[in-house]
Formats: sequence, C-alpha cells, structure tokens
Amino acid sequence: MDTGRKGLNTICTHIGDLEDKEYKGAVSPLYMSTSYAYMDVDVKRYPRNYNTPNQEALCKKIAALEHTETALIFSSGMAAISTTLLGFLSAGDHVVLQQTLYGGTYALVTKHFERFGIEYSFTEGWEASDFEKEIKANTKVLYIETPSNPLLTITDMKVVSSLAKKHGLTTMIDNTFASPVNQNPIDFGIDVVLHSATKYMGGHSDISAGAVACSREHMKKVYDIAIDLGGNLSEYTVWLLERSIKTMGVRVKQHNENAMEMAQFLNAHKDITRVHYPGLASHPGHEIAKTQMNGFGGMMSFELNNEIDATQFQKELKLIKPSMSLAGVESTILTPAQTSHSRMEKSKREAQGITDGLIRFSVGIEEPQDLIDDIEQAIKKVKSIKKVVLQS
Ligand SMILES: *Cc1c(COP(=O)(O)O)cnc(C)c1O
Repeated sequence: MDTGRKGLNTICTHIGDLEDKEYKGAVSPLYMSTSYAYMDVDVKRYPRNYNTPNQEALCKKIAALEHTETALIFSSGMAAISTTLLGFLSAGDHVVLQQTLYGGTYALVTKHFERFGIEYSFTEGWEASDFEKEIKANTKVLYIETPSNPLLTITDMKVVSSLAKKHGLTTMIDNTFASPVNQNPIDFGIDVVLHSATKYMGGHSDISAGAVACSREHMKKVYDIAIDLGGNLSEYTVWLLERSIKTMGVRVKQHNENAMEMAQFLNAHKDITRVHYPGLASHPGHEIAKTQMNGFGGMMSFELNNEIDATQFQKELKLIKPSMSLAGVESTILTPAQTSHSRMEKSKREAQGITDGLIRFSVGIEEPQDLIDDIEQAIKKVKSIKKVVLQS
C-alpha cells in the first residue's frame, strides 16, 4: 500500500486535486451544486452524503496525509469527534478516555453520554496500566489525545494500541495538536484519527472544519451515522481548506522551529515558573514524543510566577493576541480556565494541573525575536504597574 506514497509537501500541494479539464486552471474548480443527477450515474451525490466532487477530493488528500485508506470531513472538529464516537458506541457500551482532553470532548462525554446509555471512565494517568485498569467487559473504545490540550501531556500510542489489540478494542486519537505533519498515529497502530481542521489544517484562523481518517472498514460505522447527523462541511469551506492544506507542511515546520525557540526562552526566564512543551528535555513525555513525533509542534503552555497576573500580562501584549482557538499563522494566547476548559469544574481542572494562571501559547510563524521582545515588554509593564500601585 505504501508504494508510490508521495512526500509530505507533495501530498499537501497535489494529492486529490480536481482537474480543471475545461480551462486547464492550476487549482481545483469549486463545484457549489447541492443538486446532482441521480439517473444513470454511479454515485448519487449530495453534500450530506459527503460525496460532492470537492469533498471527495479533499478527503483523498487528508487520507494520504494520515496514511489511511479513507477520510471524511465535517463542519467542525467536534462534529467529527461526536459523530465518530456515536458511530462506534451504543447504549450499554463503555469507553475509556484519557484524562486531560480537549474541553469540548470532555463536555460531550460527561454531559450527554449518560443520557444515551453510554458508560465511560477517565484514566488516572497515561501508562498502559492506567488504561488497562479501566477496561471492562463492555468496553469498546480507547480514546486518547496526544499531545493534549492544554498541558501537552504525551501518551505512548504504541502502548495504547497494543493494549487495545489484546482486548479487541478500537483506538481513537485526537491528533489536532500534532497535525498530520508531526504525527501519523496509524503507523503506531491507532485505528481512527480525528482532527479539528479549524487548527493546523486550516492554519489561518478563518475556517471551521473537522476530519476523521481511518480504514474503509472502520469508516462504515462513521459514515452510517454521519449522513443522518448531518455535520457536513459547506463546499466553499471545503475548497478553502484544500487550499490551506497546500501550505500546511511549510507552516507547521516553521511553527515547530519557532515554538522550540520560544520554549527555551520561556524555560530560562526567571519570571516563568513552568513550561509544558514536549520538545524540552525536562518534559516528562519528551522521550516518548521523540519516538512518535516528527516535530514537537507549535503549542505550549506556561505559568508566570504568582507576582504577575496572567490577565494583566495578556492585556499588555502588543503582537501576540489574546484570543480563542489556536494554530493560526499569527501567535495567540489564552488562559484555558476561562476558555477551552471553562466547562470543566474548577476542582477537576486544578487536579489536572490546569490552574487559573496557566497560559496556553499558540506560537505563530512570526520572527521569534519579535515574540520574545513582546513577552519581555509585557512582563516589564505588569511589574512596573504593580510597583506604582505598591508605592502609592
Ligand atoms: C479545537 C479542538 C477541538 C474542537 O474543534 P472545533 O473545530 O472547535 O470543533 C478538538 N480537539 C482539540 C485538541 C482542539 O484543540
């Protein structure tokens, strides 16, 4: 199956492109039709059947990027995640989920699964034994996220996938933080790969989309419910996403380089007490990350010493934008406690290490020195304001 697989940037720029037969244009034509002929055709096309020309083209590209037979795209990452989980889990089934997950996934499971009769357990840690402990007779799925949002914890994909095989379970991963550039979970035995394509695939903070990539056999379960849940992505956004992925390889490479530089700067800074970045040798998951990632990604989180207020610090930044979401070419920053993880109880959040002062940093592709200067001036400013307040 591997023979003829093209290199990453060639897949990004070419695979799945639609040929413009009429005008010989260089990019895929955009077909906006929601209505296609049904007589004398092989395929009955309809947007919610996930089989319009542009949808199919983009799915080919994503499948090639994730080394899978097939892929499907959705209107958001959560549409991909919810559709996939519900495709595999029925009333009476049980799923084991890794602790520290994206806040939306956590909310989906804890707020709604009980209503559907789906049982769930969260692991206490990231070791094989932590997962094995939670497996029951009715367990069907092991669900992981590595690196995780927002603490960048690392789960050993090989360990989890071999455990799942031993118990006959399906493994799923949220691969959003790594992107297909930095990590291909299929090569480590994981069955189903999920993405918020709103993040690195889109990459410009202007597209909402999601994706799932897996074997044809596994996709049957996803597709069967996807056409009824209806989380399909609109044609124009499909086309934009195809355009965006063309530069994903070069973008993510720059994100990786910049993030490493920023992590080293923050790690050495006397006003920063903690940096979570899998590329740092001090990160507890560093050795595992080295074996399963091609690059350590553009995401990190850190804590300022408690004399510097995280909110005030963000307000003083001039270049780095305090804003929701992540993975755009521009650097953004936020406190998960107020945003992505606000729907998790404070006690649960803090038990996992997501303190109110934890700052998640999505490192963009700007010149790293400009980002360093921005952080330095913001810290200085917050300290000087504090001094004035103390003196008056
Ligand atoms: C953003 C995100 C999601 C959800 O994606 P949406 O496109 O916002 O629905 C899921 N997982 C991770 C890790 C994310 O960062």
